[in-house]
Amino acid sequence: MAEAHEDPAAGLRPESLLVAAGRPARAGDPVNQPLALSSIYRAGGERSYGREGNETWAAFERVVGLLEGGECVAFASGMAAAAALLEALPAGARVAVSGVAYHGVHELVRDRDAAGRISARLVDARDARALAEACAGADAVWLESPTNPLIEVVDIAAAAEAAHAADALLVVDNTFATPLRQRPLALGADVVLHSASKFLGGHSDLLLGALVARDPELAERLRHRRATDGSVPGALEAFLALRGLRTLAVRLDRAERTAGELARRLAAHPAVARVRYPGLADDPGHELAARQMSGPGALLAFETVGDAATAERVCEAVELVTHATSLGGVESLIERRARYPGDAAAGTPPTLLRLSVGIEDPGDLWRDLDRALRLALEPA
Ligand SMILES: *Cc1c(COP(=O)(O)O)cnc(C)c1O
Repeated sequence: MAEAHEDPAAGLRPESLLVAAGRPARAGDPVNQPLALSSIYRAGGERSYGREGNETWAAFERVVGLLEGGECVAFASGMAAAAALLEALPAGARVAVSGVAYHGVHELVRDRDAAGRISARLVDARDARALAEACAGADAVWLESPTNPLIEVVDIAAAAEAAHAADALLVVDNTFATPLRQRPLALGADVVLHSASKFLGGHSDLLLGALVARDPELAERLRHRRATDGSVPGALEAFLALRGLRTLAVRLDRAERTAGELARRLAAHPAVARVRYPGLADDPGHELAARQMSGPGALLAFETVGDAATAERVCEAVELVTHATSLGGVESLIERRARYPGDAAAGTPPTLLRLSVGIEDPGDLWRDLDRALRLALEPA
């Protein structure tokens, strides 16, 4: 296992590191880490069987580990990573989970709680006092920021302080922000979770997950879980995600700029009741985001006027924007999140549309959204 500081790219700025890290370095080597399609290795080396490791995963892990400032372990998906982390906790571990979080994580935690493997409770992570109370007696605290799908900002440094005061591990899902906009380990978190299926891969063509741990011993436990449970990434997925990482900085810069422009325009649209985007000066998360993130990211949410049917009509009327779940791809995606019972139960407003801004022309995107919003308002 290569240590982070041994990589020649380790001292570079993230934008350079994305391009330069995780490449073979000896004379005559290929410049790109090859796609290693082999389930077995000749005896006597570092690996013997493909469940223990793969050089293509290792290159992806090196880049993400350097970006986040810890040791990265890749998994078959974001959910496989989340499950491995829960499985690495002691039996009966008490886990406090943010009440506003990815619905799949809520489902996983509920399942493991029902099975008696962990004891879970939901906490309003935006409320410092509630969080401190939940931390007392917890073994792990799990949050995401910005949150899905309300795009609210949670104070990671404060959460780390509260968690550590109670000897609990702080887990931060950094999928929405990406390591280019937020580095939870530097803010005090112990483990970072990524669904690399989103921004890191960036092209909506793969499923992949990652955990980045500050403690190498925890990283080792997570590798053991991966090998034992078989939640291993595919080599092709790791190859594609690494290729996606090379352009993350330019994709995100452009998408974020467009997101800011669309957020401002949507806020003034007659069919829009409310916009949620920490890049807007009057957003409740603006100040905290300015402190803990280096940019507000490329995800926003807005509530339409009218009812759920109005919001659904917007999704049906868009042409350039794709009506589909997920986020973080080069293509803009829109979705009414309250259509998922889990999100609705967690208090997602029925007219809330989550918009993952892609890299299309901002003017084309605005014309598409404006037209769809006007159509949705027309009497049937
Ligand atoms: C998508 C997502 C996950 C789950 O990741 P998969 O790769 O789909 O398994 C976890 N957290 C967040 C914030 C996500 O958006």
